[in-house]
This record gives sequence, structure tokens and C-alpha cells, in this order.
Amino acid sequence: MNRTEQDIRVVAPAKVNLILKVLDRRPDGYHNIWSLMHTVGLEDELRFELSPPSAGLRLHCDDAALPTDGRNLVAQAASLVLERAGLPADRTMGLDIHLTKRIPVAAGLAGGSSDAAATIAGLNRLLGLGWSSEEMARVGQAVGSDVPFFFFAPSALVRGRGEEVAPVTLTGTRWVVLVHPGFPIETRWAYERLASTRQAVPTLSPTLRGVAGRTSLSWEDVIPLMENDFEEALAQTHQVLREIKQDLLAAGAEAALLSGSGATVFGVFRDKASAVRAQASVGRASGRRAYAVQTGAESVRRTPRRIPCESVDKEPAFPIRSTVRPTPRQTAELSGGAS
Ligand code: ATP
Repeated sequence: MNRTEQDIRVVAPAKVNLILKVLDRRPDGYHNIWSLMHTVGLEDELRFELSPPSAGLRLHCDDAALPTDGRNLVAQAASLVLERAGLPADRTMGLDIHLTKRIPVAAGLAGGSSDAAATIAGLNRLLGLGWSSEEMARVGQAVGSDVPFFFFAPSALVRGRGEEVAPVTLTGTRWVVLVHPGFPIETRWAYERLASTRQAVPTLSPTLRGVAGRTSLSWEDVIPLMENDFEEALAQTHQVLREIKQDLLAAGAEAALLSGSGATVFGVFRDKASAVRAQASVGRASGRRAYAVQTGAESVRRTPRRIPCESVDKEPAFPIRSTVRPTPRQTAELSGGAS
């Protein structure tokens, strides 16, 4: 095994759902979904550091509200990787993981899933495992339904419970403004709410079925199709989500939508200047946090092709920003936390 790198950094981007259809409930209790997902430039950051074997696996996080034990998706992903690689953390090596959170938690932005995916990609690199994106996605699926998507980012069509991922090229550029209302929405609760409010499981429109066959779409194609099945069900209990959407449209968004199972609502803007203006105006209301960010940020991998299931792809799916031990100053900046 090639262990030339001692210390690496990986960024973990948030995602938004440009389209989210929640279909039938499966025998395993999960729902089949049909979603066009896209990463955006709001990122957590992870640093991985090999330590003496006595250290075991240690997770450090700058957000005190998050657990750092086996409940954290980063710890779960790391344990799975080490187990699969035959490297128990308490006998053959030690590992320190430093997580800097910037993505709001339980916000429909899949921050935890992205952290898990970045952990798998980071350890694949640090430990020289040579796993393909498909292999990493399979490991990630055991941690959470949204994890496989991140190995095929920046944009992909996601189906099944999240394990069927087909990369799609989204041409053109847009900015998004993410508006977090200041409270979390638990995914499980959102699914229960959806089930209790809708009359029937939706079917896919012929237009969406047509989209499924495409490997390339433009923003002009996508914007008229933007919808999220959770939106109506959650707006009934959380009126503020509807207000944020209206505010974003009034601030010039081409479209505005709930992301995932909430609570973040995002607006799509043509350029940075209009996004920054909307961030300032819509984010001003009490309790809200707003972020103006680029879609398909420079930091996420571009995959302009459909990846066949069994193809071998040794490229790191996540940007590995530093492959050498950082200077003490860089280390201090990293552990100093989010901007
Ligand atoms: P999803 O729809 O995939 O559940 P989400 O964006 O709504 O995504 P996350 O921020 O990913 O939600 O967090 C969901 C839950 O996972 C939270 O209750 C949180 O306590 C837990 N969790 C565990 N590890 C992490 C992590 N590294 N970052 C964020 N949340 C985490």
C-alpha cells in the first residue's frame, strides 16, 4: 500500500435538488425518488491525518452541536472504509479527522452525506486504496441515500433510493442564493408529513421521462421544470418557507424552490451581482441565514459524461486541495473554522 501522504484536505460541497419527485414507498421502507441534483459552492472542509496506532479513530468538529462519535456520518464512513480495507484503526494505524462545518445541519443540503462522501474519497487517497467512484459510491450507500451522488457531481439524475446515479452535464452558469430560515427540518418527519398530506403517489410526466434519457441539459431546459414534492406539504406547517420563496422571486430569481426535505429555500440567479443583492435583501429578515454561491463551483469535479456502472475511474471524486502536510499557519487557519 502506498502511504506517501500523511495529511490531506478535502472539501465537501452542499447540494440542491433542482427537481425532486418522491415516488412509491419501497419494501425496505425507503421511498423511490427521482431527482436532478446539483452541488453548490457552500462547503464543509475535512482534514485527514495519520496518527500513531494508539490514537485510534478520532473525529474533531468545530460545531459543538454535532456528535463526534459513531453517530456522526464522517465516523461511520471512516469506520466502513477502514473495515473494508482491512485496517482496524486501533491496531494498524491511528487517524485524526478534523471537520469544519459551514453547511447548515438538517437543512436539505445533504451536508452530512457530503461529509461522508468526502471521507471515503479522502481515505481512498490517503491510504492509497485505488477504489473507483463506483466502489466508493457503493460504500457510501451504506451510510446514507444521498452519499453516492457526490461521487458523480456536480450534477446528476438520482433515482431509486439514491443508489442509481447518472451524471448529467448542465450547460451555462447560474448563481444560487440559499436561504436557511433558522430552524431545522428532520428528513424523517418531512416524509411522514408528505405521506399524510398527499392523496396519491405521483407519476412522472412525459417531460421528466424525456429528461431521464439526456446526458446534457441547459439551465434554460431545467428552470421551467423545477419542482419539489415536499414544498406544498411543508409550506402548510411552515408558512415562512412560502414567504422566502416569494421574497426570492421578488428579488429577481428566475426560479425558487425548497431544497430536499427543507428547510433551505434557494433561488436561481443569472449572475453574481444579482445573487449578492438578493442575499442582502432576502437574508435581512430575522432568523434567516443567506448565502450567495456559484453552482458547479470550481471545487467540485466536472464529469461531462455518463459513467457506465462498471467503469473504473481512479480520479479522486473530490478535490484534494493539499497533498502535503500543511504549515502550522495553515493548520491554525483550518482548525480556526468557517468563514
Ligand atoms: P438529508 O436530507 O440527507 O438528511 P440534510 O441536509 O437534511 O440531509 P444533514 O445536515 O445531512 O441533513 O444532517 C442530517 C442529520 O444527520 C442531522 O440530524 C445530524 O445530526 C446528523 N449528522 C451526522 N453527522 C453529520 C455531519 N457530519 N454533518 C451534519 N449532520 C450530521
